[in-house]
Amino acid sequence: MVKVVRQSESADSTKEGVGDFLQKIDISSRESEVERLAHSQGLPYIDLSLFPVDGDHVRSFPEDLARETLSVLFQKERGIYRIGLTQTDASIKEKLLTYAKEREQEIKFYLISSASLERAWEEYTKKPFIEHLDQMKVSLSKEDLATFGKEFDDLLSLKNNLANLPTTKVLEIILAGANHLHTSDIHIEPEAGEVRLRYRIDGLLEDIAHIPSDVYHLTLSRVKMLAKMKLNATARAQDGSFFIMKDDERIDIRVSIIPTNQGETINMRLLNSSEADVPLETLGLRGEALLEIKRQIKKPHGMIVNTGPTGSGKTTTLYSLIREINESSVKIITVEDPIEYILPGVVQTAVNNDDSYGFGQALRAIVRQDPDVILVGEIRDEETAEVAVNAALTGHLVFTTLHTNDAPASIVRLGELGIKGSLIGSAVNIFIGQRLVRVLCKKCREAYTPAPKTIAALQKILATIPLNTGIHVPKTIETLYKPVGCAECHFSGYRGRQGIFEIFPVTDGIAKIIDNFATENEIREAAIKEGMLTMNQDGILKVVEGITTFQEVWRTTGRDEALEDLYEDILSDPSFKEASSKE
Ligand SMILES: [Zn+2]
Repeated sequence: MVKVVRQSESADSTKEGVGDFLQKIDISSRESEVERLAHSQGLPYIDLSLFPVDGDHVRSFPEDLARETLSVLFQKERGIYRIGLTQTDASIKEKLLTYAKEREQEIKFYLISSASLERAWEEYTKKPFIEHLDQMKVSLSKEDLATFGKEFDDLLSLKNNLANLPTTKVLEIILAGANHLHTSDIHIEPEAGEVRLRYRIDGLLEDIAHIPSDVYHLTLSRVKMLAKMKLNATARAQDGSFFIMKDDERIDIRVSIIPTNQGETINMRLLNSSEADVPLETLGLRGEALLEIKRQIKKPHGMIVNTGPTGSGKTTTLYSLIREINESSVKIITVEDPIEYILPGVVQTAVNNDDSYGFGQALRAIVRQDPDVILVGEIRDEETAEVAVNAALTGHLVFTTLHTNDAPASIVRLGELGIKGSLIGSAVNIFIGQRLVRVLCKKCREAYTPAPKTIAALQKILATIPLNTGIHVPKTIETLYKPVGCAECHFSGYRGRQGIFEIFPVTDGIAKIIDNFATENEIREAAIKEGMLTMNQDGILKVVEGITTFQEVWRTTGRDEALEDLYEDILSDPSFKEASSKE
């Protein structure tokens, strides 16, 4: 490992270490000093031994660039790279900004200590789990070997044999491996000198293997053939699909190929209809929120708006809601981009962006078909917003999603799309905001006793939960759980995902506030006053119940600034640190 230059060790060694290239500032490994320095430089400070660092995010940033600039990308979210700096001179910032700009991302810089940098860089030494498969297989018990042996063999052949297998077999193994690991997306990405195979498992991208270039080319042709794409078109984006049978189950695979400067990159999304068939309760909805949603979807008209970033599970939730009301006496039409899962008894249509048959036009046509219920995949533009709101006001029940951070933000977004506050108030029945957190593997999760101050901090968070949420809030907390890893969860410690939600119906009080040009914060406060459980609270409850972990909640929701002091208490708990390092 490359040595980190510790400026605090001695001024001379610093000069030798990095020469004149860096304009020196005295970065110490002592957190309090770095914090002061950050303040004087007008930069935010962060301690990465406390803040949960996402290894995947760290590794997504080239290691040589990180080491050259003595920086680390410790978190990516919503188009922003959060980068910790130990050096702040202009040339370093310039390099990092150029890197981000090429990827259409913005940067937020933080000052970190050299100790933080070293700790975060450790992520570069951690290998994707497939690298450990051989050891894992050895560690399997006889029982597990009988159950999972075949699975591991398939995965091992992915790692070891890709170069020697016939290409027909390669694609088969890639698909079988993806299916074993409950993968939602397969990415095959040519990069300079190599082709990367990655799976998205429970929402996170995992490095699986590198594919030799000739195998990649043959696999690409085979995928194109199966998905009925043009073989010789290499410079434009193509979409297609095919399906595989697993036992008696049909798994549809939606393929997208786009040209990049390194070659064509393949994305295959596995659409397993049975996985979309989730009852509301198993989504993670409960208490008053669940009852309220059930009340709202039984109404004859109005809008149900679900919000969240890509991958937050909002479409799955809407499908589940539609299933709840799907009876032969109700005519349901959807307009989607594209159709993700087949809903029996429902008329499903897809927008066609090539023919300018977008959401707006499709929706106008659908309304003329006399439906009772309409599902609009997403509201992206003014036209769609206007038609959807009108449909809701004229006797239709409209389900839709908005790509915003949370429920209160979606009101502001609708305003930006030209919908008057008074119309939002009368058209929308309920706003839903959600994220997906990974669920701890029940077979291997391990109980631990948190420090008294963690328990105290948690009690304070739980005390902020309104009394009328209809959810059982535990009075005492004795144990929390940490991920361990076993054959069943493929050593990730997690298995499957569940939603954390915030939900508020548009009551008269909320409608009035919306009409008065309220800010996001005012709407949020009003909703909380009326009994809304926030996503963060829902997440913390699910941590206390042993369903998930702090890391998962913070990874998906960010941290609630109002609770910052409490986080510090939890994060400085030695048993928490031990639990984090397990991952
Ligand atoms: Zn497990």
